[in-house]
Formats: sequence, C-alpha cells, structure tokens
Amino acid sequence: MNLQERDRAVNWHPYTQMKTSGNAIPIIKGSGVYLFDNLGNKYIDAISSWWVTLHGHSHPYIAQKVSEQLNTLEQVIFAGFTHEPAIQLSENLLKLLPDNQEKVFYSDNGSTAVEVALKMCVQYAHHKTNKKSKILAFKNAYHGDTFGAMSVSARSIWTQPFNEMLFEVIFIDTPTFGNLEDLKSEIKSHQNEIICFIYEPLVQGAGGMLMYSAEDLDELMRFCREQKILMIQDEVFTGFGRTGKLFAADHLSEKPDIMCFSKGLTGGTMPMGITTCSDDIYNSFLSDDKYKTLFHGHSFTANPLACTAALASMELLLNEETQKNIQRISGQHCLFKKILKQLSNVENVRQTGTILAWEIKNNKETSYFNEIGKELYAELLSRGIIMRPLGNVIYLVPPYCITEEELNFIYKNILDVINSC
Ligand SMILES: *Cc1c(COP(=O)(O)O)cnc(C)c1O
Repeated sequence: MNLQERDRAVNWHPYTQMKTSGNAIPIIKGSGVYLFDNLGNKYIDAISSWWVTLHGHSHPYIAQKVSEQLNTLEQVIFAGFTHEPAIQLSENLLKLLPDNQEKVFYSDNGSTAVEVALKMCVQYAHHKTNKKSKILAFKNAYHGDTFGAMSVSARSIWTQPFNEMLFEVIFIDTPTFGNLEDLKSEIKSHQNEIICFIYEPLVQGAGGMLMYSAEDLDELMRFCREQKILMIQDEVFTGFGRTGKLFAADHLSEKPDIMCFSKGLTGGTMPMGITTCSDDIYNSFLSDDKYKTLFHGHSFTANPLACTAALASMELLLNEETQKNIQRISGQHCLFKKILKQLSNVENVRQTGTILAWEIKNNKETSYFNEIGKELYAELLSRGIIMRPLGNVIYLVPPYCITEEELNFIYKNILDVINSC
C-alpha cells in the first residue's frame, strides 16, 4: 500500500468528510515556506499550516534548541515541580504583554487555553459569590472545539449536533456598524448576569477573517470595565505578530483581565496553550480554603520541549529581520489589496497586518460559494500554493520568512485564478 492508502485505512482527518474528500497529500519534508510531498512536488504554505508556522518549517534554530532540550529534560510533572524553560518563557512573555498580566497558566492548545480562561472567570465569580452566571461573546466568534470553547463560539454548522448541550451565551454584534450605543444598552440589560466577555481582538479568524477597529473595541472594553465585566482576550490567532504588532493588545489602550495564546506561540513547532491573568484574578484564588484551588491541569502542562520551542520562536520573532519582514508583508498586502479592489468579482477586501482577506462576489446561489472555495483550493494547489478558503472568503496568512518574490508569486497566481472564475 502507498502512503495515501495506508493513511485512508487508519486515519480520520480534522474538518474532513472522509467519504467525499480526496486522499490526503503525504508531506515528507518542510523547509522555510515550502512543503514537499512524496512525489517531489513543492508547495508554498500560504496559510502557515492553519495559522501556526511563523518562521517557516523545520526552522534550524528552533530545531537545535528543542533537540538540546530533548537531551536534557523532555517532560516533568508541573504540579510540585518546575523548570527553567517554563520560568524563562513566562518571564519573557509577560514582559511583552499589557502590564496588568501577572501570571501564566500552561495548557496544550488554543481550546484548552480558552477553557482555562473561562474556568478562571467562572470560579472568580463563584469566589465573589456574586451570582453572575452568563458569558458574553461576539456573533461569528470562534474560540475552539472543546465544549466550553464551542459554547462561547457562534452556533454554526460546526456546532449544530451539540447545540443543546452547549451552555447559554449572550451573543452581540461586533462593533462594526457604528452600533456601539446599541451594544452598550444590550450589555447593560444583562448587567448583573454577565461574568465575562470573551472576544477575538480585531480579527475574527475562523468566522471568516472578519475585522473591526481597535477604537471601537477599546470603547467596548472601557464599557465592560465600568460594568465590572471581566475580559478574556483570545489572541490564539492574533498573537505573535499576525496583526503587524506583536499582539492585538498593542493596538489597544484598554487592558483585558485574561489573555489566551497558542498557534504561533511555539512558532508552529509544538502544541502548547497559555492563559495569562491579572493579579486580581490570581489573588481571588489565594486562600486557606482548599476549595478555592484552580482544579485544572493537563498531563503535559508546561512541557519543557514546547516551552523551549516557544522561547526560540519568540527570540526569532523579536529580532530585527523578522520585524522588518512583518512590516514588509503588511506593505505588500496593502498594495495587493488595491489591485484586488479593482476586480469586479471581488468584494470586502480587508487587511490587518499580515492577514489579508476578501470575498468572491455573491452573484450565484448561496450554496455555490463553498464550491467556489473548493475550486480555488484545488486550482491553487495545482499551482503549488496551499490556501484554505473559508467558503467564499479567501485569505492569506503567510509565514514571516516568506520573501517578496514568493509573496508576489502567490499574488500573481491568485489573480490568474480569480480572473478565470
Ligand atoms: C484556532 C483558535 C482557537 C482554538 O485553538 P486550537 O489550538 O485549534 O484548539 C481558539 N481561538 C482562536 C481565536 C483560534 O483562532
């Protein structure tokens, strides 16, 4: 059996209808922006392998650091024990975050980072015995696939079979339409029920790369602060340079109580999630009462290899070359945006830093659009470019190591493909 047959015999792939999907492409090597399949084809990874890869695949510096750590300490229980990589990573990360972020809680991925954040808030309310029981979130939100994370995400085809088992959440519009006063009065009508507000800052990723302004979010955050509603800023996607600044937080003047990270955290090398919080949250768990413990943990909490990968990735992220690349990619996107805007079958072109998105125009039946996405996916793949449209939303989220020429190659092929559809 070849790799594809062996794969089909045993593997169940994520977000994949196994009956109708084609065979998965076996990748045997990654290097920089390129992935290589078993037949010798090479592909540009224009979506950073589901938005995680920051500095390219198999980055030699991260590989070297992880390999050294692998020979020193690969894993240790993080209850009762600690280690240098976790301490160093927490110290380094906190220095980059809003100054009210004081403590770091480790977990395994973006969804668990969100679960931990929600549990911190719900238990905080429990400690304060304030009888609040609701969570506030945005329509079109996506915060992950575990049950708590699904609950605070938009109800969609992805959550449909589980909807009755998800806890109730108050969903409001994003502040996009000059609607801030409406949003405020909606929040105010639930004033005494809302424990916390969870949101993807500036860009709603999986919901379709929907973007809204930092000024509007700031105002909404200010209002939540006044209403004593805790804020969870889910930077799982936006963190580590994606928005053109290190964090979406760097576009904002208001500070959240809790922040969630994953995806780019380890440069896309290893799975890890982080939830950071303020002293106010942390201190509410300090007690002689054992019941006030945060009873949450994962077997691989603060895995030393993942911490080491994150330390190495953050070092690369902060160096001048990467920072210049991020600005250059943002600039190139901005120019390409102007070209896209002139196309008759393209609409809603939008950009935040290294994230560029647009829609293929709605001039056919709605059900057609998913097909458009699939067609574009196949056509671009045949040209050696990996993209993954969300329905009729096409987007680019490239690794920061992509060169000017490589990005231009992607733009040119995209223009060819959308001009012919
Ligand atoms: C991807 C994502 C998550 C979930 O992360 P996983 O590692 O896939 O569980 C949570 N929040 C946001 C904003 C995301 O984009």
